[in-house]
Amino acid sequence: MPPAHRLRAWFETLLAVARRTGTLTRSGPPAYNGGMRVALLRRSAPEPTHVTVIHAGTCYPVCVRRRAAARRITLRVSSATGEIVLTLPERTDLAAAQRFADSHGAWIAARVAKLPERVAFVPGAVVPLRGVPHRILHWSTAPGATVATTEPDGTPVIAVSGGLPHVARRVRDFLEAEARRDLSAAVARHAGALGRSPKRLTVRDTRSRWGSCSAAGHLNFSWRLIMAPPAVLDYLAAHEVAHLAEMNHSDRFWRVVAGLYPGYEEPEGWLKRHGTELHRYG
Ligand SMILES: [Zn+2]
Repeated sequence: MPPAHRLRAWFETLLAVARRTGTLTRSGPPAYNGGMRVALLRRSAPEPTHVTVIHAGTCYPVCVRRRAAARRITLRVSSATGEIVLTLPERTDLAAAQRFADSHGAWIAARVAKLPERVAFVPGAVVPLRGVPHRILHWSTAPGATVATTEPDGTPVIAVSGGLPHVARRVRDFLEAEARRDLSAAVARHAGALGRSPKRLTVRDTRSRWGSCSAAGHLNFSWRLIMAPPAVLDYLAAHEVAHLAEMNHSDRFWRVVAGLYPGYEEPEGWLKRHGTELHRYG
């Protein structure tokens, strides 16, 4: 391989490692106010999407994102993806960003070290389903449906059949289908109580939000809610349905939520405390 290709392959590996790791904590990012440079010319060549920081012999790929609204350089480690992200103002030059990242090598290393282990959907892995830990059981290589059941000793399992290479995808498909089923039922119930009807319900792997409601009345949810205790999914359904009446987070909105889901503060609090843990799986 030519050196340039080898370097690229090495870098891709680093990126993959960074993507696999996750986090539980997301504390305040270090901030930087100096280093502003006024660009004399428009940048012509596309900027690299990453810079590399080396700390104590380990390389950390850092995603670089320019934001017009950014007032200073900030650095964070995503709890959802494990990505290290540096945001910089439109006119700050990349060298200042690199210096900032370099000077925070120890901070990055400490954050990354705190990321919890990711749990892949492989046989033997333990995955929560409706708040209950389930072990993934690859019980047959013959084709068949994926089911949640219990073993003779009472251990809850997600039993998957078919070829081993397809286990992860089948577990994911199963969880997504279960999420869609529970969310459809909960949305129908809350929408009925409110006297409104959503136009569409979609289930995706949303990273920044657990659910959303568009002005057109489209509801979207994260399939990961199926891993949380049932009250959490039910509350999120009530929350998004309440947006069909109030497209904001005003006091009026929260009164609608309380009408649909009395005591919503508890599942809301659970999501704040434990929500990021749900991103470790799969
Ligand atoms: Zn909302």
